[in-house]
Amino acid sequence: SPALMSGKRGLVMGVANDRSIAWGIAQAVSAQGAELAFTYQGEALEKRVRPLADKVGSDVVLPCDVSDDASIDAVFSALKDRWGQIDFLVHAIAYADKEELKGKYLATSRDNFVKSLDISCYSFTAVAQRAVPLMSEGGSLLTLSYYGAERVMPHYNVMGVAKAALEASVRYLAADLGEAGIRVNAISAGPIKTLAASGIGDFRYILKWNEYNSPLRRNVTQEQVGGAALYLLSGLSGGVTGEIHHVDSGYHTVGMMAVEAAPQ
Ligand code: NAD
Repeated sequence: SPALMSGKRGLVMGVANDRSIAWGIAQAVSAQGAELAFTYQGEALEKRVRPLADKVGSDVVLPCDVSDDASIDAVFSALKDRWGQIDFLVHAIAYADKEELKGKYLATSRDNFVKSLDISCYSFTAVAQRAVPLMSEGGSLLTLSYYGAERVMPHYNVMGVAKAALEASVRYLAADLGEAGIRVNAISAGPIKTLAASGIGDFRYILKWNEYNSPLRRNVTQEQVGGAALYLLSGLSGGVTGEIHHVDSGYHTVGMMAVEAAPQ
């Protein structure tokens, strides 16, 4: 049987290293025949991203700072020259000042609020604007969210507010782009130890809490997020748009786990 993603081309934004969620997604879709392009933020990360791209047979590796419109324009103009058209896009990018990913949300500064919302939320809309003209045959846009968008999680603070806005933008973009056959979805992933996550206060405790209080009683893996992304980026999810799909071992369904579930 033909591979799920054969003949499909896509851009993966947000690989920092081999622990990145974006890398888990890239591996899953590449294994099903997708052809990939990557962006990286800053020269230091280029050294990490190029060898990873090489592993999945990609030499389309472009710099992109999503807080800069000209930088985003350059990426999509390079893709237009190279491929003419794309089928999917993965946005796995977030930023907040580490100093405000601990303590109280109340202390959020205006500067950090604006920068966090710009990079973690608006950038998805900014890249969608440029991807749409390259998706003349329809497509799939995917971003990454977290349960802190829906409920208060310790230390997540301004990032929770940014993810709530990101999830709302998924629904608005889905409504805008449905006519063009472009689907827009998010994966709300459970906690995974990545570079970005290491900036969140008490992250190890959060991992343990999720492990003990999830129906599956384990944390999710990069591969599990990759599997769900493969579904959302392929024709298997042809009837799905505007969806926030939880890949969190079921954590979001639980009010309280039974006492027997607690570690003895
Ligand atoms: P990561 O550190 O591997 O990836 C974050 C990426 O964001 C990096 O590649 C970084 O270069 C990029 N980035 C930050 N600012 C940028 C900018 N101005 N321009 C371009 N790129 C920029 O960490 P990750 O955990 O894989 O994060 C990927 C996504 O998954 C993020 O949206 C994150 O919020 C989300 N997420 C992570 C978890 C988790 O527990 N790790 C859970 C749910 C959702």
